[in-house]
Amino acid sequence: MNATAAALPGDIEQSPQERLKITEIFLSLQGEADAVGWPTVFVRLTGCPLRCSYCDTAYAFHGGTWWEIDDILAEVARQGVRHVCVTGGEPLAQKRCIGLLERLCDAGHEVSLETSGAIDVSQVDPRVSRVVDIKTPGSGELHRNRWQNLALLSARDQLKFVLCGRSDYEWARALVREHALSGRCSVLFSPSKDQLSPRDLADWIVEDRLPVRFQMQLHKLLWNDEPGR
Ligand code: SF4
Repeated sequence: MNATAAALPGDIEQSPQERLKITEIFLSLQGEADAVGWPTVFVRLTGCPLRCSYCDTAYAFHGGTWWEIDDILAEVARQGVRHVCVTGGEPLAQKRCIGLLERLCDAGHEVSLETSGAIDVSQVDPRVSRVVDIKTPGSGELHRNRWQNLALLSARDQLKFVLCGRSDYEWARALVREHALSGRCSVLFSPSKDQLSPRDLADWIVEDRLPVRFQMQLHKLLWNDEPGR
């Protein structure tokens, strides 16, 4: 399926209380996590306080355009699909993201949030499916993990590890086992592109009978990670 990038509106000065800085809003297929494969509108918020070694969305660190929340809702509705993914960057770095998530749920969307795991997720609307990263040693951002988030997760949520090599795998495996993470929510293991062979990771998971879900990012297989897809 082809993705459809939306034209961003002009940068008009309006009430700061209702605005969010947006890098892009586009229609594509969800490439990962529980909603994989669904036609989905992505709302990519600008900015991230982290700098992961494998980051594939550095173009969202800066720039962006201010959008009124009402205009975001209208653009999402215009795309005509049920699933919406709020992503970044780190979307929760903009506090008004909490209100956007609530409004999207109120509008009847199936909403997911992709977050770095570095920021408190307790205020996120309970109707949202939270996809929370755990940053591994290989990411270079291990110290940013907000471990208190783990206790907040439920069966509706997902924990995502992007693994850079065997030592990351062993670190993540120990964490999953020691904290029985799979009993709390879905646990997703992904290979970092160009750093870990997907086949090696799949073999290790099977060999260890680890209660986690292997995933490859569908949008990278289909579109080689082009922005806006
Ligand atoms: S948290 Fe996500 S957007 Fe931020 S640097 Fe890491 S991979 Fe990139």
